[in-house]
Parts: sequence; structure tokens; C-alpha cells
Amino acid sequence: MIVRCPECGEDEALRGRRDDELILVTCETCGHAWDRDLVPRCDRCGSEDIVSAPKAFVEKSRGTQLSVVAVTTIQLCRSCDAETLEEYLTAPGTRLVMPDELPTTAGDATDAHNDR
Ligand SMILES: [Zn+2]
Ligand SMILES: [Zn+2]
Repeated sequence: MIVRCPECGEDEALRGRRDDELILVTCETCGHAWDRDLVPRCDRCGSEDIVSAPKAFVEKSRGTQLSVVAVTTIQLCRSCDAETLEEYLTAPGTRLVMPDELPTTAGDATDAHNDR
């Protein structure tokens, strides 16, 4: 999540002090200070239209079965993650966001590591 000074655009020389649900941020470049609330925001487009969703970590178990080994909460942006969100919201059954890349289930992974 990138924080920028609204006055001068500085994004590094910033000092943040946590104050309950707010973070008081001071820009060391221009001295501007502002409150930053802890509303989740998209770190790509800055939108506050964010949906929390459980994301699955999947591992290949015996045979061709995939099993969910862990779940973490991710933030999905309604515009940047529209596709993922759509899949998540319309998926039947398990309400989990699946990883972009699933472990391959085609045959056993080869043990060989020949460097040419
Ligand atoms: Zn500044
Ligand atoms: Zn976004």
C-alpha cells in the first residue's frame, strides 16, 4: 500500500504515528500532516471499493487430488480484481479464491534436475 503526500507527492520521507483508528502521517519534505484512516484501499488504483475474500493455498496431495492447506484473507478491488471477484462471488460451493496457478496434477513431477 503506497502512501503519498497529497501536497508534494512525497512517498518516502513520511512519518506515521498510529492514533487509534487513524494514522497521523507527516511529510518530512514539505511538513504537511494528514490523517490516514485504516480503510483498506486498493494499492493499484486507490479505490476503497474493496472486498475481503479468503484465498486458498492449494497443494497437490496423493494422486490427482488438490487439497487446500491454508487460507489467508486477501483484498480484492472491484475494478482491478473484477474477474477474480466475479469468479469468487459466483463460484458454487466453497467460497474461496483459488490461486492463479494450481499445482499441476498431470503425472508425477520429475525428480530429475539436469542442468543440461
Ligand atoms: Zn509533502
Ligand atoms: Zn484497484
